[in-house]
Amino acid sequence: MSIVIVTGVPGVGKSTVMNAAKDFGYNIVNFGTTMFEEAQKEGVSNRDDLRKLPVDVQKRLQKQAGEKIGQMDNVIVDTHASILTPSGYLPGLPEWTVKAIMPNTIVLVEALPEEIENRRSKDTSRARDKDDIGLHQRINREYAIAAAFMTGATVGFVPNNDNKIEIAVEKFKKILNK
Ligand code: AMP
Ligand code: MG
Repeated sequence: MSIVIVTGVPGVGKSTVMNAAKDFGYNIVNFGTTMFEEAQKEGVSNRDDLRKLPVDVQKRLQKQAGEKIGQMDNVIVDTHASILTPSGYLPGLPEWTVKAIMPNTIVLVEALPEEIENRRSKDTSRARDKDDIGLHQRINREYAIAAAFMTGATVGFVPNNDNKIEIAVEKFKKILNK
């Protein structure tokens, strides 16, 4: 089997797409949850506060999580190609993290900025930022490609447009079936 990293801006629906492909024999691991479990020991009480922590703290937590996940096999990793911090876009898969994980494939789940904006406004369970979604998705492509270049991973795109979830799931399954 293999290691597949799934990325996408907050609110694009990557968890929904991934969960629909659970019957493929992969375990799903959430990078943010792995980081948050470590951060809670240091007094962080909300996962949406992680990206506001000092960048060096985020990088330390990221490194710990990456090393933990790097020991796993047959996993789909739910994470981000970039994280919008107050200091700019932090790569979610910097060299030391992506090389610890050595993914076979990096998937980008994408949608139109206005679709994502609308989904975010309906999800009251999360503290989303007001940001430039189009720019964030472009940065994600660049960072995902850089991570692919360091590891030889393939890069796949899954468009998750409104009322087209079944197309997104089909596309994702095709990528898993490679
Ligand atoms: P999520 O629930 O997927 O949005 O993840 C929660 C938080 O975990 C994100 O807002 C980030 O602060 C952090 N996180 C997730 N993946 C990464 C990563 N690869 N590198 C750094 N931080 C991450
Ligand atoms: Mg999610």
